[in-house]
Amino acid sequence: MLKVGITGGIGSGKSTVARIFSHLGIPVYDSDQRAKDIVSSDPQLIAQIKELMGEEAYLPDGSYHRKYISEQVFKNPEKLKSLNLLIHPAVRKDFEAWVKLQSGAPYVLKEAAIMNRDSGLDAIIVVHTPVEERIARVIKRDGKTEDQVKNIIENQKTEEEFISVADYVVNNGKSHSILHQVLEIDNRLRSTPDQ
Ligand code: ADP
Repeated sequence: MLKVGITGGIGSGKSTVARIFSHLGIPVYDSDQRAKDIVSSDPQLIAQIKELMGEEAYLPDGSYHRKYISEQVFKNPEKLKSLNLLIHPAVRKDFEAWVKLQSGAPYVLKEAAIMNRDSGLDAIIVVHTPVEERIARVIKRDGKTEDQVKNIIENQKTEEEFISVADYVVNNGKSHSILHQVLEIDNRLRSTPDQ
């Protein structure tokens, strides 16, 4: 099965572009959403998170104490790094299990904000939008302040760094039409041999 990643900074439009692929019949794995699921359901990951963050990481009903964890990692970037080092491999394992269930698909898409050349994917699509437009879209989407959005963006890769890992780029700035770009990439991926 050909595994294709789709990435881009916050507000670049990766979920929007992924939705178009999904309408074309391509299964999409939403890494953020799946990470939120597995921190409350994967017993091995739960044990590792408790070891790192303490028993307070989970509420008495067993659910992930998101607020507590956010506060802890906000104060301690090293803890955030360690937490990500637990969550990312667990997501990757979950993705591989999910891929096995998609046997009839022409290829599959993995949507994630963090993606590198060594992410185990056969190709990477980067959604590229000028930063000013991303800021405006996220303010509108999430109701965040400009400073909050800028702060998130500063902690992500730059547009150039994103593009440096791309096999395909979708330009999602206001003067571009994404539909024809997606159709062209989909065509090429459907005719890419499985690796
Ligand atoms: P990401 O998943 O990369 O954070 P989204 O796909 O959620 O980005 O897009 C961010 C916001 O911008 C959403 O509210 C989306 O509806 C909007 N958006 C996406 N693409 C465009 C576009 N080409 N023109 C205007 N708004 C867009």
